[in-house]
Amino acid sequence: MEPIRACVFAVRGSGWLDHQRSPRTGSGQATNKPNRMVSSMTIITCAFCGKDANRRTGEVNRANRAGLPLYCDRKCSSLAHKTGKTIEHRRAEKAAYDSVRRAALADRILSEKRAYYRKHRAVLLERMAARRANPKHREAMRRYQHAYVRNPHNRAAKKAYDRRLRAVKEFGETDMAEAVIAVHELCEMLRPSKPEIRTNTGRVNLCQKRKRRAHAKE
Ligand SMILES: [Zn+2]
Repeated sequence: MEPIRACVFAVRGSGWLDHQRSPRTGSGQATNKPNRMVSSMTIITCAFCGKDANRRTGEVNRANRAGLPLYCDRKCSSLAHKTGKTIEHRRAEKAAYDSVRRAALADRILSEKRAYYRKHRAVLLERMAARRANPKHREAMRRYQHAYVRNPHNRAAKKAYDRRLRAVKEFGETDMAEAVIAVHELCEMLRPSKPEIRTNTGRVNLCQKRKRRAHAKE
């Protein structure tokens, strides 16, 4: 066995045929004379830049059968596949597609999720427990929750949710509950903001005022 020659043939041949067992000896030993497969080549015209290039005939036949374009190199292939859309545009498209899909397949997705949870319940619970025990994860969660409750949008949503919850608890799902919610919303809108209250009661820049007063006395 000559390793260098074998190596050269492995590169030039088609791979698996190079290490075929010898049909003559049947001994199961690899032969010194590998079956050289040299593919026939075809000249193609790049579908992007129009230059000529060499491609294996098999590759060309396959592309023709599937109706696919051939390119001279990977650069041309890449350029030909570019759509010119920005990443934001593509994200928006995907989000729109996902929302439609989620709505259309809601039942199926939910049942699949439930089945998955039921099947892997033990593993999932174990994984969640391990995560909770990880100080890094706890810190990340703490930060996330902190940011969440400070987000004005989330605060407003929670306020509205609580308002509805309290009204329904008190009056049930009635018109009375709706009226109470509406009144509370109106009060919320009409109530002066904190800066306004502070201005009206003369409690603006208290700290600075005290400092100035102290400075004037000296
Ligand atoms: Zn090209």
